[in-house]
Amino acid sequence: MAFSLLYVISNRNFFNLHIYMSTQKGTIGVTTENIFPVIKKFLYSDHEIFLRELVSNAIDATNKLKTLSSFGEYKGELGEMNVKVTVDKEAGTLTVSDHGIGMTAEDIDKYINQIAFSGAEEFLAKYKDKAENIIGHFGLGFYSAFMVAKKVEIRTLSYKDGAEAVCWSCDGSPEYEMTPIEKDGRGTDIVLYIDDDNKEFLEQARIDTLLKKYCRFLPVPVISGKEQEWKDGKYVDTDKDKVINDTEPAWTKKPADLTDDDYRKFYHELYPGQEDPLFWIHLNVDYPFTLTGILYFPKIKNNIDVTRNRIQLYCNQVFVTDSVEGVVPEFMMLMQGVIDSPDIPLNVSRSYLQSDSAVKKISTYITRKVADRLEEIFKNNRDDYEKKWDDIKLFIEYGMLTDEKFAERAMKFVLVKDTADKYYTLEEYKALIEANQTDKDGNIIYLYTTDPVAQYNYINAASDKGYSVLVMDGQLDSHFIGLLEQKLEKSHFVRVDSDVIDNLIRKEDKKTADLTPEQRNILTTLFKSQIPPVEKAEFLVSFEALASDAAPLVITQNEYMRRMKDMAAMQPGMSFYGELPDSYNLIVNTEHTLIKEIRDNAEKAIGEKVAPVSSEIEKKNAEITAIRDAAKDGKMGDDDTKKTSDLEAEVNKLRAEETKTISDYAAGQEKVRQLIDLALLGNGLLKGQDLSGFIKRSIKML
Ligand code: ADP
Repeated sequence: MAFSLLYVISNRNFFNLHIYMSTQKGTIGVTTENIFPVIKKFLYSDHEIFLRELVSNAIDATNKLKTLSSFGEYKGELGEMNVKVTVDKEAGTLTVSDHGIGMTAEDIDKYINQIAFSGAEEFLAKYKDKAENIIGHFGLGFYSAFMVAKKVEIRTLSYKDGAEAVCWSCDGSPEYEMTPIEKDGRGTDIVLYIDDDNKEFLEQARIDTLLKKYCRFLPVPVISGKEQEWKDGKYVDTDKDKVINDTEPAWTKKPADLTDDDYRKFYHELYPGQEDPLFWIHLNVDYPFTLTGILYFPKIKNNIDVTRNRIQLYCNQVFVTDSVEGVVPEFMMLMQGVIDSPDIPLNVSRSYLQSDSAVKKISTYITRKVADRLEEIFKNNRDDYEKKWDDIKLFIEYGMLTDEKFAERAMKFVLVKDTADKYYTLEEYKALIEANQTDKDGNIIYLYTTDPVAQYNYINAASDKGYSVLVMDGQLDSHFIGLLEQKLEKSHFVRVDSDVIDNLIRKEDKKTADLTPEQRNILTTLFKSQIPPVEKAEFLVSFEALASDAAPLVITQNEYMRRMKDMAAMQPGMSFYGELPDSYNLIVNTEHTLIKEIRDNAEKAIGEKVAPVSSEIEKKNAEITAIRDAAKDGKMGDDDTKKTSDLEAEVNKLRAEETKTISDYAAGQEKVRQLIDLALLGNGLLKGQDLSGFIKRSIKML
């Protein structure tokens, strides 16, 4: 019989496919390259999958016979239908045996000798530089045995009436032998003569590990080795075969047949040592693709470890991989569980997976299912949903930030929490604050805190006004706020400490601070000179006419700068913002009696001394401006350049003089420093020596 294997030949970066036809038809060019080095080379990193392939074939053969029997096509006894993996260290063999349909000599010729490469050329043209895809796509199932074996035998007896047992044997060269043999019982033994580089596959322990990994949930009992028992101080084999798999894992059953405990039990079977999951979703779809599975929402700890305990992908209960990138949307990498679909191509690289349209549909379907389920729990069991909210919040926010479709759905069931630990949907919350927290321009202002303890004073001030404050202290909240601002119309999020309360939600036009330029000049330096140095912080002094019963001094942090810094902390490449000092506003309330008193006292004490210096500065500045304005095309002559730089030096000198006068005076004003310290204290910015100075001063003042 002519040998009609197809040869795939590696040629550096591309593949050529040469078809070696049987002599009866023989027309196409002949090559002498051997397929096996190619298999070994390209599947090198994944040698172990040969076992998965062989056991899967054995299961298929078993299931086929069961099907034939159920249709009455096979009338014999089925007998014990299991698959057995046997290690014989002495003989150097590993055998996978089944009692399935078996093969006749014709079957072997058809299914083994002539690998069906239909559509191969088209496929090759498309993926010629992606070697793994090619191997994977053709599912060289049986031939993967040659990755670990120097010789392979197929000893098989077909279920068909009057069939003769045959042994096919091949040592990896393009020749094979096929001879009649005696074989007890129907089915197939695939015997691998393990080669010297792969001796590990003759260790029962290694085989056990592999079977646990790939075959743990196969639908037919898989036996390997014997059950052990503790006897005379050590473990010894019993007579009992060891079944390594659970043939009916939870995801293959109907949801109606499963209790909550069953789901939890299965979760712990998959991920031992984990806390109970929060929710689960049983997936089950037949059209337009077939998919079953159970996805769990785990209790996510602060340090998210997405690399361990991941979603596992199965194909008809055969484990494929736990790298499901591309198959499930990115945000679901935080979920756990099992997805089983025969429509996900096996053995193919990720880039191929992502471009596969079936896979895309699957990903969309899963997203929809997850959203459905969350909405269902939210609607039917709001209490439970709220209780678990803090745990699933990260997941939902991540989903909304990375998946447009999910975001749309989740707008209905995403929750926000206020400082009283009450939960609202976005719609409920809007209804709650709309009346009281709409500013003069018609924007709804969502106030939030990132730290209810540190920002306590501001939250209090907001509560006094009847405002509600949201807690936004999650890892993704700074990004999430940005998303909500895009999604919610005419809405702004403002951190509760980013301005004085009247400015956070401005109901009417701002009252301007009632100060003369001289007063403003003196007070600016007066307060600025008394702010103690705070590490990585910068202060700007500004004046506002707030309510007379509002605080005399308030420190706020610019919302925009703060958000930039928060985001920078989470994103590489934005370190520029991260390194900037925090910038604070020291807002002086000019309506407060204490400030008025400070203003009047200062004016009385140093007004006359400062006034002539200030007007001198003003005069010189005016001269500088005049010279600059007069210069043609903005270019000054040498004379003018010298004149302006002299004038600038004089201005600086005068300023220093003025500053000294004011700060010397300010240094003697205990109330000024006391008010500043109080404001700093309210923001947790008063520390060390400055704090103890404040305490001493307070006692003295009392
Ligand atoms: P695939 O399983 O993807 O079709 P394989 O190379 O693994 O490719 O197997 C080729 C064919 O050989 C199978 O489709 C099946 O018809 C036959 N075969 C392989 N193993 C067995 C077995 N244990 N029992 C019966 N037939 C088998």
